[in-house]
Amino acid sequence: MKRAFNFGAGPAAIPTEVLEEAQRELLDFQGSGISIMESSHRAKLYENVHNEAISLMRERKVQYADTGSWSSKAIKEAKIQGLNVEVVASSKDTNYDRIPEVNFDDDADYAYITSNNTIYGTEYKTFPSTKAPLIIDASSDIFSYPVDWSKIDMMFAGAQKNAGPSGVTIVIVKKEMISAPKENIPTILRYSTHADNNSLFNTPPTFGIYLLNLIMKWIKKQGGIKALQRMNEEKAAIIYDAIDNSGGFYVGHAQKDSRSLMNVSFNIKDKDAELEAELIKLTSENGMIGLKGHRSIGGLRASIYNAMSKEGVEALVALMEKFAAEKR
Ligand SMILES: *Cc1c(COP(=O)(O)O)cnc(C)c1O
Repeated sequence: MKRAFNFGAGPAAIPTEVLEEAQRELLDFQGSGISIMESSHRAKLYENVHNEAISLMRERKVQYADTGSWSSKAIKEAKIQGLNVEVVASSKDTNYDRIPEVNFDDDADYAYITSNNTIYGTEYKTFPSTKAPLIIDASSDIFSYPVDWSKIDMMFAGAQKNAGPSGVTIVIVKKEMISAPKENIPTILRYSTHADNNSLFNTPPTFGIYLLNLIMKWIKKQGGIKALQRMNEEKAAIIYDAIDNSGGFYVGHAQKDSRSLMNVSFNIKDKDAELEAELIKLTSENGMIGLKGHRSIGGLRASIYNAMSKEGVEALVALMEKFAAEKR
């Protein structure tokens, strides 16, 4: 037997493999003793074929960049949802010390990034450009730089790092993204419910939102987000300079072109845990808290969100320099 090259416009060629499978199943479909075309369309036998065809046609392709703990957690959750998850880029091989080159397919159902990696201290300097809807977890850098909203379909953030107290989550999303929620999503979990009700469908965390309001006013008083961005650049440069000029005593975790302006993660040379503990103790004796690095990379982490003053950063650097001079 020789199969022809069928260039016909339609009815057209069907993959040989598929025809062979149909041939094998023609007389006895999956042990039922009948052909699928002899089955009632209400019988389980046909129903399974029918529903599988629909679900395979619906199968969605979603793409993620894996740049640290929060994005890998998001990937895990998407898999639980049964989505067809593709990880298009990852910096896991170098312990998440950089933002890898990220190229999303334009036909993905959505593309997902974490703009600032809170633990590893890396951030995107520009967002990947894609025609796919871009979704961003900006929990640790929202309101720290101006954003080109034309390129973003959804940005969400827990407020507790850069926008207020814990308990409030900010979701900024294009209306088209939420207009047709899946039928099996409970009312309160639908973004459309909250959008339609001006975020007052149920009792919101009123005190948290009051503080969020005060912070929005405070940002305005600082000169707006552009002014905060300049201050954040200045503050981060003070610490990174201290690391780079320490003669190797301090070692930054992030590669230079991926350095976060919000979280500066660093170690003492040779990851000397004893010296690191000593420095952390010294900081707390000098009125500084929260400098212990995340357990996954150890060392120290200075989180210098909008509300951290330049004075705070200078005090830390003075202490770091004194410590290095003594221990070097
Ligand atoms: C802190 C953080 C989260 C988690 O916030 P929760 O409110 O604790 O769920 C998620 N993503 C990023 C980037 C974070 O920094």
